Amino acid sequence: MTMAATADHAPSWTDAVRAGLAGLRGRLSQDAPLGPRTWFRVGGPADLLLQPADADDLAHALRHLPPDLPVTVLGACSNVIVRDGGIDGLVIRLGGGFADIAVEPDGLVAGAACLDMVVAEHAAAAGLKGLEFLAGIPGSIGGAVAMNAGAYGSDMATILDWAEIVTRDGTTARLSGPALGFGYRRSRLPAGAIVTRARLRATPADPAEIRQAIATIRQSREDSQPTRARTGGSTFRNPEHGKAWELIDAAGCRGLALHDAQVSEKHCNFMLNTGNATAADLEELGETVRARVQARTGILLEWEIKRIGRPTRPEAPQTGETP
Ligand SMILES: Cc1cc2nc3c(=O)[nH]c(=O)nc-3n(C[C@H](O)[C@H](O)[C@H](O)COP(=O)(O)OP(=O)(O)OC[C@H]3O[C@@H](n4cnc5c(N)ncnc54)[C@H](O)[C@@H]3O)c2cc1C
Repeated sequence: MTMAATADHAPSWTDAVRAGLAGLRGRLSQDAPLGPRTWFRVGGPADLLLQPADADDLAHALRHLPPDLPVTVLGACSNVIVRDGGIDGLVIRLGGGFADIAVEPDGLVAGAACLDMVVAEHAAAAGLKGLEFLAGIPGSIGGAVAMNAGAYGSDMATILDWAEIVTRDGTTARLSGPALGFGYRRSRLPAGAIVTRARLRATPADPAEIRQAIATIRQSREDSQPTRARTGGSTFRNPEHGKAWELIDAAGCRGLALHDAQVSEKHCNFMLNTGNATAADLEELGETVRARVQARTGILLEWEIKRIGRPTRPEAPQTGETP
């Protein structure tokens, strides 16, 4: 196990974690900054950040960690606001050991850390059609399964054969698409489960035709979304009837700003960090939008972006005090 950085107010369970993770092949860091890893570029550190070497390493870690240790998994952080106080307990991020792609005649198996865009490009190069929509989604395959990511009339529910998971107690399992209970931008993964890889269905087709479809999708997104900005994608889920962006626009919130947090002018269901916004600024702006939309339409928008962590950091314990 590699252990990096030491905080002077490390929580008391760090020793138990360290003991439980003896034999770990991955990397464990303490007080690890998360903000720079998120699309919004906001948020405090993880008390502990674990980057397991591979699925066996992850399962080993989960089997030996204290069962009451809070565990949070993050992907490419393209649909989260990590709050300013950081995340309690252990954060898991999957890296290179979860980034393989195996092409098969009618689909591919992709590790959970693979970026959706990379998977779409692999599929195109292999002449596999049906995954083009992934080319415009900036998350990872693990996040795509968890969120049932989708665009342009397709989503993970449409293409997923199975996903492999590791549960909080370190048990591995393979779940079929129906067992994942996909709905609009959600899945019913077992609580605490971490997706490690997934098999995606596709059909053989001409690579040039697939590449053209990807280029069209990318151009359409460039035209309609702030794809190069510090953002978290769609802030709110579309309500049962209508589009969230239309309600936000009608409530006069296009371009609305709070400090350096702003509702995008280009796509008003996207929020932006235009400079030095904090997670609190973004969250308060989002709540202001919800309140204005509700006042105008009676509809209370539901957050699509996951807001995780604590608003402020816990006080460092005084000398002699038990943390
Ligand atoms: C510019 C932009 C455009 C976007 N366009 C779209 C779009 O068209 N369609 C769309 O659906 N989304 C879109 N998004 C949102 C986002 O990219 C997707 O929701 C994506 O699937 C999130 O993946 P992620 O790896 O970034 O997950 P994160 O943001 O890191 O996490 C999101 C959730 O997934 C969970 N999670 C992450 N990895 C795993 C794992 N391995 N196992 C279990 N749970 C996991 C996290 O715990 C969290 O609850 C967009 C975002 C941006 C910034």
